[in-house]
Amino acid sequence: TRSVLVAGETLIDFIPEQTGPLAAVESFSRRAGGAPANVAVGLAHLDAQPLFWTRVGDDAFGDYLRETLADAGLDDRYIEVDPAAKTGLAFVSLGEEAEREFSFHRHESADTRLQPGTIDDEALSGLDWVHVGGVTLADDPARTATLDLVERARERGATVSFDPNARPELWADEEFSFVETIDDLLPQVDVLKASPDDLAAANIEYDGPEATADRLLERGPHTVFLTLGGEGSFAASTADAPWASGTETAFHDGYAVDPVDTTGAGDAFTAGAIAALVDGVDLGEALGFANAVAAVTTTAPGAMTALPTREEVTAFRAGQS
Ligand code: ATP
Repeated sequence: TRSVLVAGETLIDFIPEQTGPLAAVESFSRRAGGAPANVAVGLAHLDAQPLFWTRVGDDAFGDYLRETLADAGLDDRYIEVDPAAKTGLAFVSLGEEAEREFSFHRHESADTRLQPGTIDDEALSGLDWVHVGGVTLADDPARTATLDLVERARERGATVSFDPNARPELWADEEFSFVETIDDLLPQVDVLKASPDDLAAANIEYDGPEATADRLLERGPHTVFLTLGGEGSFAASTADAPWASGTETAFHDGYAVDPVDTTGAGDAFTAGAIAALVDGVDLGEALGFANAVAAVTTTAPGAMTALPTREEVTAFRAGQS
């Protein structure tokens, strides 16, 4: 089987029990979260047997997260417990127009303390795919650890995918800017998955999927996925992509579902795209599969708990056609 490593934060998301501004929310429910954690669990549910490199605190929240990741069937060799740091937390609110507000409690939290070099060269040589996200890049040493992982994985021939996951709240007090970080990283990645919001935060103009993807492909990645919420998604590859024989594009207008909770839909999409592409399918089929994984995820509450199995995705697609 092809081997995939996902790296980055596992957090507790505190989801509001009422809509309205964060300052007015009175009660929250606890959910396992963090975009890379969602992607890793999504891949595990799809039988891709990923490795997941993350770090939680030696506290009750860390215990809960480790239990959740173990229940999803994830290998724990790179799931670290930091005796000297707390598990990262994120409080979220949901406005009337579905706009989200975040309050992050991850100052020097365990997830920001991934150490460079943890995944050694030998382990990296056996990997086909490495996926990382933008949240890990906001704080050192996790930032340096992630950039080092990307560089060494690439040198050893792995496909590197990246989701900017723009969270302006996280970068406000940092010495690094999100815009410069994305500028510097684009030439280092093979596959970019982004939403128009991510691009806006990175100061990248969004003028429709085709034109935007064309400009992104000139900046390094050989493949770009743009997710467009209920309107579906767009994918483009150059001839450098192993799954394309020339320039290829694909558009999927999304599956019609009654969404209950779209949290984590983007991460579900990423897990679906990776699982499909490591299986060797073409770009159009990967896009269809990714949209189906994402669509099913929106039909159940929560992010991680809503991620479907391969059988559920197959049944869903059969019911749609
Ligand atoms: P995030 O999870 O941070 O919101 P994102 O912005 O990438 O990430 P979206 O673009 O909202 O996520 O959604 C990702 C994918 O989920 C879409 O490409 C689509 O396939 C599916 N999806 C999202 N919302 C809906 C919806 N209302 N109906 C059907 N599919 C949806």
